[in-house]
Amino acid sequence: MKIICIGRNYAEHAKELNNDVPTEPVIFIKPRTALLFPEKPLYYPEFTDDLQYECELVYKICKNGKYIKEKFAHKYYNAVTVGIDFTARDLQQKLKSKGLPWELAKAFDGSAAVGEFMPVSADMDLDNINFSLNRNGETVQRGNSHDMIFTIDQIIEYVSMYFTLNIGDLIFTGTPAGVGPVNVYDELEGYIGDQKLLFVDIQ
Ligand code: MG
Repeated sequence: MKIICIGRNYAEHAKELNNDVPTEPVIFIKPRTALLFPEKPLYYPEFTDDLQYECELVYKICKNGKYIKEKFAHKYYNAVTVGIDFTARDLQQKLKSKGLPWELAKAFDGSAAVGEFMPVSADMDLDNINFSLNRNGETVQRGNSHDMIFTIDQIIEYVSMYFTLNIGDLIFTGTPAGVGPVNVYDELEGYIGDQKLLFVDIQ
């Protein structure tokens, strides 16, 4: 399985990191070793002094496909949750300033935390999903899927031109504004609506 991630998919977040709002999705991939298993701690990596959370909606692919059109894309995922795209921000800024790929800053072991999945039901309005992240009991990030520049269906059309999607692949759909640092002993909880789906502690 692979973990496909979208960068800069919320205009306010693109601005807070001084990036242009993109006209095409910004894509990067994390390997399966990046997956942080449920209830496992993330050990603060030694190569960064600025580990940050990015809370994102995550979709699970349920059907293999390539060249999937937007109007058929909804057949290719069946579950959604909240996840954290952990980022070594200092390292990412260094790589970005040199025009180098971000993988070292974004795809390290444990960098993809994924909550418990909820089934995507026909009556769910995917364009109005509220999600949030608490750090040590305080809400630090809130988002709504309505603010995504590219919808999950548009992302699937775009990504599947380049990569075959396989059952079990995950798509991180980008983070809203409000990213910030974590410290050792922090406890992070991710919510969709008022349902707690994710817990990560930093060690
Ligand atoms: Mg992200």
